[in-house]
Amino acid sequence: MFTHSKALMTPVEVTTPDPRFAQFMLEQFGGATGELTAALQYWVQSFHVEDAAIRDMLQDIAVEEFSHLEVVGMLIQQHSAGAVEEQAWRSTLFAVRGMGPHLLDSCGSAWTAAYVNEGGNVVRDLRANIGAEGGARQTYEALMKMAPDEGTLRALHFLYTREVTHTQMFMRALDSLGKLDVPLFGNVPPDGTVDIYFNLSKLGGEDEAEPGPALVGEGMRITGQPGSLTLLGEAPAFVNPDDEKPGASPGMAELAPG
Ligand code: MN
Ligand code: MN
Repeated sequence: MFTHSKALMTPVEVTTPDPRFAQFMLEQFGGATGELTAALQYWVQSFHVEDAAIRDMLQDIAVEEFSHLEVVGMLIQQHSAGAVEEQAWRSTLFAVRGMGPHLLDSCGSAWTAAYVNEGGNVVRDLRANIGAEGGARQTYEALMKMAPDEGTLRALHFLYTREVTHTQMFMRALDSLGKLDVPLFGNVPPDGTVDIYFNLSKLGGEDEAEPGPALVGEGMRITGQPGSLTLLGEAPAFVNPDDEKPGASPGMAELAPG
């Protein structure tokens, strides 16, 4: 059940209304990195998760993202108010569609559920969320650079900061599953190519930059010959402490290395 408190999460006090900036702000209302995308992504994901603490965290953050959507909508409303008569030339979008937010991004493209990244595995979803928060953080940074007044800048700084916090929360959730810095998850063990770096992009046979230890981990091998897979050896032992449904993929045990 949802109820709605009309109190905003952070004050919205626009002193220099700017319909062109309102159009930029649409990116965080009906855009790919926007608050509607984040809210629906975490909300839908929460129904797949069996870990009660992580499910509750996803729902907490989803509801917060709806509160961010409200703040972004208020910013757009205040920046586009009066645009129709006085400043239509600054944004044809608001002149035609009217003031306030619409389910469009800053270029006028309609919001789509294809922006939502969810499905099937809690590790997969949490990693998608770290990417989503990075996208939101980046868009807010771009918007902050163009903010036309102090009140707008303060509200954007709050929204920006919360995305950093959410990133930390998703990283902690992954850490609690032992999956913050381990690429393997799920029930399917990888084959013998898992520790191979395919060094395939070259200029006249030469590397622009040799793959060094920063990118090629210990135990990883480099080859420029992806065809010679028979020489690659056995995969390492597969450890999967996090899976919420161990053995959920019947028959996968036979694929286990060794
Ligand atoms: Mn947000
Ligand atoms: Mn967020």
